[in-house]
Amino acid sequence: MLGLMQEWPLLCHKLLDYAAEQHGAREVISRSTEGPITRTNYRDIHTRSKHLAKWLEGNGYKLGDRIATLAWNTGRHMEAWYGIMGIGAIYHTLNPRLFPDQIAWIMNHADDQAILVDLTFVPIVEAIAEKVPGLRHIIVLTDEEHMPESKLDLICYETLIAESDADFKWADFPEETAAGMCYTSGTTGDPKGVLYSHRSNVIHAMMAALPDALNLSSNEVLMPVVPMFHANSWGLGMAAPLTGTTMVMPGGGMDGASIFELLDTEKVTFTAAVPTVWLGLLDYLEETGKKLPHLTRVVVGGAACPRAITAKFERDYDVEVVHAWGMTEMSPLGSLGSIKPEYGGLDVEKTLDVKEKQGFAPFGVEMKITDDENKELPWDGKTFGRLKVRGPAVAKAYYGGAGAEQFDGDNWFDTGDVAHIDQYGYMQITDRAKDVIKSGGEWISTIDLENLAVGHPDVQEAAVIGVAHPKWDERPLLICIPRKGATPTKEGILGFMEGKVAKWWMPDDVAFVEEIPHTATGKIQKIELRKQFADYKLPTA
Ligand code: AMP
Repeated sequence: MLGLMQEWPLLCHKLLDYAAEQHGAREVISRSTEGPITRTNYRDIHTRSKHLAKWLEGNGYKLGDRIATLAWNTGRHMEAWYGIMGIGAIYHTLNPRLFPDQIAWIMNHADDQAILVDLTFVPIVEAIAEKVPGLRHIIVLTDEEHMPESKLDLICYETLIAESDADFKWADFPEETAAGMCYTSGTTGDPKGVLYSHRSNVIHAMMAALPDALNLSSNEVLMPVVPMFHANSWGLGMAAPLTGTTMVMPGGGMDGASIFELLDTEKVTFTAAVPTVWLGLLDYLEETGKKLPHLTRVVVGGAACPRAITAKFERDYDVEVVHAWGMTEMSPLGSLGSIKPEYGGLDVEKTLDVKEKQGFAPFGVEMKITDDENKELPWDGKTFGRLKVRGPAVAKAYYGGAGAEQFDGDNWFDTGDVAHIDQYGYMQITDRAKDVIKSGGEWISTIDLENLAVGHPDVQEAAVIGVAHPKWDERPLLICIPRKGATPTKEGILGFMEGKVAKWWMPDDVAFVEEIPHTATGKIQKIELRKQFADYKLPTA
């Protein structure tokens, strides 16, 4: 027997309808690409996204078309997402930090037909437009006064909005319809496209807003520093309208001073970004002696959050740190490190131990760890294996069918991460599967060694890779960038690490470098390091 409840498809534009109706005056404040801080609200974003939707439909765009955005976090970018989704087309966020040729490759693979681009990134579009033959319109997210000179035929966004109107009814379609697209910039092979549906985005927004997750509400002022082009902006572009949360959009200002200015003047209570952004802010605070009287919580993810960041925020600024893990393929939230009662009331150091873990899964994410034979491993906080997930906001395939080996028949997605999970469900990432070191058949976690090494006061950044060894197959090599002005020694660093990890995990050697290569999303490019150190001879070999 089926239930007798109404069918009400989970469509993303309903999030914005709701925000406009119940929280219409709640502001969306942006650092604009033209310079000044601009203010709009959910009611106006709703109206203007309808203007865009009407223009798009009038110009022949329809259900299923891919429309790219190459833009910072701003109110206009929000309007673009909802205007595009409202006709049943698909927003496709492009990462401007990729090489122009990679962007062109991704646009062609996705078959993008139009692009909405920030002033800052017009030169990128000029460089690649000829290589993307399917592109019909290039819309610059600015007003007439700031329109750049260009050899391309550019459309001014504000003129388009002014000449269109809001007499538009959102399109109707099933909730499984594609809504958005984001390519993962893996460290190997071609980028792979993740295709979110309306249903997955709405469900993910509800999961993300929950109290033990991001705990959003209309009383919060949220600054998503994580870009809308990185992993669906961690779902914040949907979860904020769902909860009527005020948004403060930092545009291109990612440095400590710019971030601080908005946190302070707009009285931001909650913010989210990768660790490097927070290092910049904390340095700025230390230099200037400024404080964070309004901020209560910060979510740190995208890469492991160093203990030192958590300690500084919590001890020096009274800001709670929530460590989060996720990936583009998961919309992206997978786990968050809120404190369950089991871990309540611990002393500072023990709480910091818990916060080094990436946290537990919210409702809607199932997790397991397995060995190479797909045998499930225990949740004992020690045994680590391949981390696999499934849920309504987890990808079941990549666009175009690449990477099929990452999905199994039961819908489990192999994240490519290696982790252990403790008795209370807290997961901790120990490595990427392709980076883990296999020494005499046993696994060594490179992330654990790196975290330990950066705890040394003279080490700025550290990476650990496996180097060939005649007896053990592979042994760890620690690669370090010394802190400015410091001259650490191999003996000093190994001495510092000794006793803090199993003896057989200790690196066989330490190499000092000036630079460690990173990907466009800020991850260490171990594949490059392995190439660089391919002929390295360990003293133990
Ligand atoms: P992306 O899809 O670009 O967000 O990359 C996802 C990958 O980033 C994950 O599979 C992890 O390897 C890594 N990652 C994300 N968050 C964390 C975290 N908190 N700690 C360690 N690694 C992380």
